[in-house]
Amino acid sequence: MHRVFGGGASIVNWRRGRNTVHATAVAELREREDSAPRLHGAVPRLNMLRLRIQDDPASGQAELLTYVKLVVVATAPAHFEIHCLEPNCDGYHNLTDSIMAGLVSGRQHFSGESHCRGLVVGADCGRVLVFHAEAEYEDAH
Ligand SMILES: [Zn+2]
Repeated sequence: MHRVFGGGASIVNWRRGRNTVHATAVAELREREDSAPRLHGAVPRLNMLRLRIQDDPASGQAELLTYVKLVVVATAPAHFEIHCLEPNCDGYHNLTDSIMAGLVSGRQHFSGESHCRGLVVGADCGRVLVFHAEAEYEDAH
């Protein structure tokens, strides 16, 4: 006996338009990451990198979002671009320069911020993202 799964198809189709736009942006980001130098090659002493990404607490956002990204040093690209924490925003934060500057100078804790230039339903997002990086390095012999 075959079971037919019906209903819900229109919901899937409705969602598809949005997902395709998002998928294209993700694919483009993947390309930029793939073409970037490897993190391990750029900072050979780096053992561990953890990034805590959050909304600027001074931004007055009702809900402050935070997420933690543990970077796989062995395979990660030396490219740090993060989608805006506002799910409806099309903005990306390119943290590559600030993060690489911290890692190349061997800092264990450093942070920075980035102002979103994306749009949320046609209006400026203006969200401020703050990152805190925690890095561990091999001892220099
Ligand atoms: Zn944004």
